[in-house]
Amino acid sequence: MSLLYGGIEAGGTKFVCAIGSGPDDIRAETRFATTTPEETIGRAVEFFVRNKRLGTLSGLGIASFGPVDPDPDSDTFGYITTTPKEGWENTDFVGQMKKAIYVPIGFDTDVNGAALGEFRWGAAVGLDTFVYLTIGTGIGGGGMANGQLLHGMMHPEMGHLMLPRSSQEEAFSGVCPYHGSCLEGLASGPAIEARWGAPAHELPAEHEVWQLEAHYLALGISSIVLVLSPQRVILGGGVMGQAQLYPMIRRELQDVLAGYVRTPEITVGLDDYIVAPKLGPRTGVLGAIALAQRAAASV
Ligand code: ADP
Ligand code: ZN
Repeated sequence: MSLLYGGIEAGGTKFVCAIGSGPDDIRAETRFATTTPEETIGRAVEFFVRNKRLGTLSGLGIASFGPVDPDPDSDTFGYITTTPKEGWENTDFVGQMKKAIYVPIGFDTDVNGAALGEFRWGAAVGLDTFVYLTIGTGIGGGGMANGQLLHGMMHPEMGHLMLPRSSQEEAFSGVCPYHGSCLEGLASGPAIEARWGAPAHELPAEHEVWQLEAHYLALGISSIVLVLSPQRVILGGGVMGQAQLYPMIRRELQDVLAGYVRTPEITVGLDDYIVAPKLGPRTGVLGAIALAQRAAASV
């Protein structure tokens, strides 16, 4: 019998909660819309309480939208901190879960969680330095350097890398409320919708949107490659549902790097370098379960 863990993928639009031990063993799962912190965290608690009959949990993992405080030594560890999401600023997420569920709790960003899940069971097994980027309502990046999840001062905010705007679109100022035309401002789902006047998922695969999208994503990825030297870059999130983007991004990345980085990964191995998450739609919640396992193992 494997040990059981709880996972919460806490997204800005929806929460996914699950109980299990890994990709082949999910015993209960639920999803619901993100509303107020009280109601949403309350529903998460209710899910775990309701499913107590499945067995005792050895740990709980929370992979959350942010910004968050993932530093266990900080007074505000486990908080969603300065988020622009209304009502969620300074929410003591871990504290509220702890009152109801007495197990070790792992807490990190949604993308570090997803990265850890891919490291444990998916596209990053055996690597020690890699990045997981999500391209959805926002753009966020997490990952590992030398076998450690990326934290530092806070956690990376790769979605807000500043990009040169394409000469094709001087009129579009980008949708990031802070920076206008950062990576998220130019290439997130809402940026696509603002630019083309239709939701990203409604635009056809052969639309010109995807060439520009691949260009901006490759610009962002090139900066990440140059700073972190990742061994692989995993691209997930709703927008990457456009599978034709993967080869386009690979070509654009080679263009942007312009022959300067000559590792086999970049020169001949791009198909294994820019990849989709292997855990599919469960990447997020499995990442939370991986955070739970780690928290349980470290006490
Ligand atoms: P979130 O970021 O809110 O957690 P997603 O990762 O699903 O959720 O991202 C939602 C965004 O992705 C929306 O802007 C939506 O239009 C876009 N999206 C979802 N599916 C597709 C698709 N198949 N093709 C292009 N864009 C998509
Ligand atoms: Zn920004």
